[in-house]
Amino acid sequence: MRIFQNATQAALAMRPDDPVYCFRPEVLKADARQFMEMFPGKTAYAVKTNGEQLVLKTLVEAGVKAFDVASPGEFAAVRAVSPDAEMLYMHPVKAQSDIRLALEKYGIRVIAVDHEDEITKLTRVVRALDIDPGSITVFVRIQTKGQAAYELSKKFGAGPAYAVELAQRLQRTGYKVGLCFHVGSQIEDPDTYDRALASADWVRNRVGFPIAGLDVGGGFPAEYGTDPASKKPPMPSIGQLMSRLRSDIAAWNFDKMPLVAEPGRVIVARAFSLVVRVLLRKGRRLYINDGIWASLSDSWTGKLTLPARIIPDPAIRSRNGNEKTIVPFKVCGATCDSVDILSRPFWLPETIDTGDWIEIGHIGAYSLSLRTRFNGFYPDTFVEVTTPFEEGEAPQGLATVETMAAE
Ligand SMILES: *Cc1c(COP(=O)(O)O)cnc(C)c1O
Repeated sequence: MRIFQNATQAALAMRPDDPVYCFRPEVLKADARQFMEMFPGKTAYAVKTNGEQLVLKTLVEAGVKAFDVASPGEFAAVRAVSPDAEMLYMHPVKAQSDIRLALEKYGIRVIAVDHEDEITKLTRVVRALDIDPGSITVFVRIQTKGQAAYELSKKFGAGPAYAVELAQRLQRTGYKVGLCFHVGSQIEDPDTYDRALASADWVRNRVGFPIAGLDVGGGFPAEYGTDPASKKPPMPSIGQLMSRLRSDIAAWNFDKMPLVAEPGRVIVARAFSLVVRVLLRKGRRLYINDGIWASLSDSWTGKLTLPARIIPDPAIRSRNGNEKTIVPFKVCGATCDSVDILSRPFWLPETIDTGDWIEIGHIGAYSLSLRTRFNGFYPDTFVEVTTPFEEGEAPQGLATVETMAAE
């Protein structure tokens, strides 16, 4: 992989017409280590966020020893980078053959359920393989209510009273029983974990035996741009959020038991930026060589404002407007599909034109993992970059309120 100091150097050296992923291994390691230092329990990286080998390998180098996995493909991806990393199989709805593979071939001993039929499947496999249920920790996934860009409780989770029943049933069969929740991705309200902990406490107080642990899931927000037109209050920093979570955990008396978190987005978002090219500027619209069917689907469904910075093509000799004037551009994707238009604008200098590049920052989560080959476009070019997106020469158009205010 070619190495550059920053994305601007990569773009000017390569003059790429295809999107280029700029990977920052040192940023990934720093963010993983920061999370592990702040969270008072086991950190299990959620592989679905970005399961690239180079990401998993770098996380192992950073000291990540546990991974949240959901499928045979993810079991294999983790095993390929580490012979002894622990895997937590936290998908509540599983094929029986996948459960068997997890237990038999991969030695997985941590699993999540939210329905009695999932317990039946698990127990069938456990009996067939003659495994002691006492060697397996089963987390009962509890339904939660909260504010997140992605609300997941509509899809998974047992209501609190049913969770009590499931827990008791698991305990009678001989499993170790924990409780877990996943509040959704990119939470937008700092009270979210507190409410989920209150539900977990309600269940814990009624099961009638000591639970083996609590898994607080993922959802920790990554930093993105801030839309200057938005009225949403800014989220607290991850440091503030984690100290709040630690005090909530203690207030609900979960601090004396084994804890697990399954962060995805917050660990990997900053580790990648993406260099795209403006194929055409049409008024206030930019047609770029990536889109919702490639790297940008998460920003579309999550309605995220992505931080973006122009990399001007030096070959363009004359420009209209003032490079200090930052304006919103509607962004159209590479495919012929009419829905392939981003749900949030990019804030960029009004001088941007056909042929310029844009570096989109903090794009490591749910970007390359969600790429499709739709319409024949499949971005797959990687370079390594040694400085963080935020650093280097002054950004000419970074879509944050801070930069706007400083103008
Ligand atoms: C997707 C997922 C995660 C990771 O979520 P982030 O918001 O990226 O932190 C964690 N746990 C489970 C069960 C998930 O489905």
